[in-house]
Amino acid sequence: MIINTRDNIANQLSNKVYDVCICGAGPAGITLARKLAEKGRQVALMEGGDRSLSSDSQQLYRGDSLGTPYPVAASRLRYFGGTSNHWGGETRPLDERDFQPLAYHPYNEWPIAKQDLDVYTAEVSKILDLDQPDLKDDVFDNKASNLPLMTPAYRYSKPVTRFGIKYGEEISESPNIHLHLNANLVDISLNNDHDEVSEFVFRYDPESQAFAIKARYFVLSCGGLENPRALLLANKQMSNGIGNRHDMVGRHFCEHIETTIGSAVMKESHESTGFNICTDVLMRSKKCLSFLVEFSATGSDENSSFLQRLYDSIFGASEPELQSEISLIIQQACNPESRVTLTDKKDEFGLKRLALNWRQTALDHHTIRTAAIEVANTLARHDIGRMKVAPFILDRSVEIPIGFMNHHMCTTRMSKDERTGVVDQDCKVFGLDNFFIAGSSVFASAGVSNPTYTIIQLALRLGGHMNELLD
Ligand SMILES: Cc1cc2nc3c(=O)[nH]c(=O)nc-3n(C[C@H](O)[C@H](O)[C@H](O)COP(=O)(O)OP(=O)(O)OC[C@H]3O[C@@H](n4cnc5c(N)ncnc54)[C@H](O)[C@@H]3O)c2cc1C
Repeated sequence: MIINTRDNIANQLSNKVYDVCICGAGPAGITLARKLAEKGRQVALMEGGDRSLSSDSQQLYRGDSLGTPYPVAASRLRYFGGTSNHWGGETRPLDERDFQPLAYHPYNEWPIAKQDLDVYTAEVSKILDLDQPDLKDDVFDNKASNLPLMTPAYRYSKPVTRFGIKYGEEISESPNIHLHLNANLVDISLNNDHDEVSEFVFRYDPESQAFAIKARYFVLSCGGLENPRALLLANKQMSNGIGNRHDMVGRHFCEHIETTIGSAVMKESHESTGFNICTDVLMRSKKCLSFLVEFSATGSDENSSFLQRLYDSIFGASEPELQSEISLIIQQACNPESRVTLTDKKDEFGLKRLALNWRQTALDHHTIRTAAIEVANTLARHDIGRMKVAPFILDRSVEIPIGFMNHHMCTTRMSKDERTGVVDQDCKVFGLDNFFIAGSSVFASAGVSNPTYTIIQLALRLGGHMNELLD
């Protein structure tokens, strides 16, 4: 049901106590709301935007980029359905190794196992309309290429799931979900003992009165940048913000770094394709993090004259159109200095805007260089091509161009230990008995897979957990 009335909303809701109040109706919030409603729970689903994009709402996402340049507003959408309104629909589960401890990357380990999330494979496939449910990384499973290399098992959302569109009608007809649009979270209140959230406070617009939503349980699902901002802003009872006793909120911001590592002349033509040549053995022996490789379709490389000469010198014959540009996607290392903080600039509600200080580490640079050399060696070893690596691979004085994929992770990371995380293995905020977080901000580490698949797995798991609590 959609709650449209703004008149006297505070009075209308004053005696209402929902089972769960979820703030943020993107993929995480909508999935969780549906999971709870399925069991008859009374859910308030609070969304800051409307049913479609508006500049008034979108500009609330503006902020500063202090480190490696990053479009903090343009990398997300602030309306019903969230950033799924323009996501690409490419999905992949995390790898087993993403959950394991790594001596040279102290924050790698998750406090849960891959199996804890994989039990939701069928449900996620249905929610996201994924093709090929049992696809695994494999040699030759990608028909675009005949190269003897492992291809990553990307599965695609088809038609690409826009959560607001796909689930809007179901939600508006559900007696169990009250969807409030244009309801902007402006504060979070705690009880007197500061061990529970007592209410989320909202305003429809900067001129309107604030109103509170009361519930037994509360969930923040505003995305990987806004979740930490909301916790930091809620500082009237806890001066450092909520869930921030150990100054962990906003730290460890991770992206999937994307960069072009060179071009190759290939022996045979192929379509654009991805490869997974990063094995556990390679990672541990080279002390790098996870990576995936993308080859553009042969013939699409701009550096063709050099590559043509290279081809001629290696393979002897003149065979045009066999160049391929090679790019890399890497797991970024967790880094407490890569972080979301608040600035002194304020938004239309008088709330401090965020600043993102996105930083890379020596381990990120090492992963990029190691991966590039491994790609070059692999092509030569299998005699399937020869690669010209980009100047920054061998010359450390050349800056590495750092690209991003609009994936905002780890800013309220999951941990066994409150000193190294913000939520526990159940996505519950440390120190608060009834407050949970959903979305990629809870990722313990980033892995190399696009995040939305894992976001949905985690939301389903959280829904199951909350349903048990509510029984
Ligand atoms: C161009 C692009 C392409 C992408 N492609 C892919 C892809 O191919 N594969 C993939 O896995 N991922 C992709 N992503 C990332 C994907 O979109 C996100 O991982 C996903 O949308 C995150 O879901 P979420 O629900 O956690 O957050 P969001 O989708 O960001 O939703 C957060 C919701 O919270 C609401 N909100 C925010 N602040 C407030 C507030 N103060 N009060 C009330 N409500 C609030 C917002 O309006 C929004 O509806 C892409 C992203 C972009 C930008």
